[in-house]
Amino acid sequence: MADAGVVVIGAGVGGLVSAALLAAQGCAVTVVEAQPGPGGKLRTIAVDGDAIDAGPTVFTLRSVMEDVFAACGDTLDRHVTMRPAALLARHAWGPARLDLFADPAASEDAIGAFAGAADARGYRAFRAEAKRLFTALDRPFLHATRPGPLTLGWRMGLRGLGDYCTLRPYTSLWHALGGYFTDPRLRQLFARYATYCGASPMQCPATLMLIAHVEASGVWLIDGGMYRLALALEALGRQNGVRFRYRAPVRAILIERGRAAGVMFEDGERIAASAVICNADPAAIAVGRFGAAVRHAVAPVPATHRSLSAMVWTGHAQAAGFPLARHTVFFSDDYPAEFAALSAGRAAARPSVYVCAQDRSDSGDDDRRGAPAPARPERVQIIVNAPPTGDGPDTSQEEIATWTRRMLEGVSQAGLSLDLAPSTVMTTPHAFEALCPSTGGALYGRASHGWAASFRRQGSRTRIPGLYCAGGSTHPGAGVPMAALSGRLAVDCLLRDHASTFVSMPRAMPGGMSTRPARTAPTG
Ligand SMILES: Cc1cc2nc3c(=O)[nH]c(=O)nc-3n(C[C@H](O)[C@H](O)[C@H](O)COP(=O)(O)OP(=O)(O)OC[C@H]3O[C@@H](n4cnc5c(N)ncnc54)[C@H](O)[C@@H]3O)c2cc1C
Repeated sequence: MADAGVVVIGAGVGGLVSAALLAAQGCAVTVVEAQPGPGGKLRTIAVDGDAIDAGPTVFTLRSVMEDVFAACGDTLDRHVTMRPAALLARHAWGPARLDLFADPAASEDAIGAFAGAADARGYRAFRAEAKRLFTALDRPFLHATRPGPLTLGWRMGLRGLGDYCTLRPYTSLWHALGGYFTDPRLRQLFARYATYCGASPMQCPATLMLIAHVEASGVWLIDGGMYRLALALEALGRQNGVRFRYRAPVRAILIERGRAAGVMFEDGERIAASAVICNADPAAIAVGRFGAAVRHAVAPVPATHRSLSAMVWTGHAQAAGFPLARHTVFFSDDYPAEFAALSAGRAAARPSVYVCAQDRSDSGDDDRRGAPAPARPERVQIIVNAPPTGDGPDTSQEEIATWTRRMLEGVSQAGLSLDLAPSTVMTTPHAFEALCPSTGGALYGRASHGWAASFRRQGSRTRIPGLYCAGGSTHPGAGVPMAALSGRLAVDCLLRDHASTFVSMPRAMPGGMSTRPARTAPTG
């Protein structure tokens, strides 16, 4: 069996980041990925000759990605061009509209005009609280290996004691928002941030309001689409010597003398490894998708504890009757009913709808020509929350038609008519289950419901020595920046756990070859 050094299963964000960082440390790394290319959920779909982002569209916490590139001796700017969005998102309730801006004063003014001075003050207080929570948890929780409640308190230290006692884990986000906003539409708007990690605002802790701070801190538009980021991370890995094997689904993680020792592919081929990082959802390990020998490596996630899935339309549409911005959210008139249906495993009768108009600038101009909005079919990704039932009976064409009708009815409340091209690609929870097996199509791992959920999320280390987890279903959480942080944490743990052996191996470097010692970490 050839030794591939460290094997990373999956070329999602967490896998790509961990591979690049390890290779930059001199480790031999091989990424093995079932799909034909990198990205995982960070993906693009070709529709009628156009590449359309079909996964993440909102890029935040740019500094996390910059740090990854810097740690690999490169810069993010060299790979992707991006611009800050001045208009973060447009929100609509029937004919009423509210824009949020990167400039907090502009958002406060807009909220004042929309709902009155009291809610503008409420917004200011909410923003300060979201920032406080983010700042308190950034280093000791998001950038550190998964703590328990006590470890977190210890990490926050005496100076952070005040913050620790007021992390608001026992109050629901929905309840807490009622204390800031009198206008139910604003409560709904800020509750939506819970869905960024696939949670219900009625069940997740108020702590998650920190997500609002992340978005308010900056949204970036990447030229050529978010998928460029996946390509950039792949290039970063390659230039540090990472080998990529695509169309290479892994059937089993091999164990020798009690530690991870390699992988076996679906076709029976085996490669040895000194450690394995699994970027596939840990749920797949727990149900035995990687073999009975590793099942016990992680805690199972019961289907009832899964985060949300989504119904996603990716294609071209002729839009009329409403001034779409790059990111527009059309809210239903009953958020609790919407989440009650999802929690019961059903589609919402009147769902909220997110539309990403990818040919538009943040404000809604035609991004390709700098001209007013397109009067021709444009590239759109439309997302509606769905229950994570992708491992149940398949979604029928009739059900898909119902989802589409309800989505179109939802946006029509605000006057938008969307004429979707017949070539539009639907991604159902079943399709997400196929991409990320054993999840039921849950996009963000275990749901962040209840005060202890964040402490129960899979950590970087597993119960099997030499086997690590990285990705959006692993600590610290979902979304592109968090998946990147988890990749980083997996690498930190791996390097800390193992004394490395050094062998001399030629490495591709920007501008030439280097023969500086490369690690094959770790030895068994
Ligand atoms: C529709 C949608 C919209 C989103 N919007 C945003 C957004 O706007 N902003 C944001 O920050 N985040 C967003 N997210 C979330 C974000 O995309 C994810 O949290 C992040 O990309 C997850 O990365 P990951 O590291 O967990 O890897 P994943 O994307 O989960 O990839 C895992 C990889 O492992 C591979 N794999 C699995 N099993 C095997 C096997 N047996 N053998 C080989 N390979 C295997 C899979 O093929 C896959 O490529 C969105 C997600 C979706 C789906």
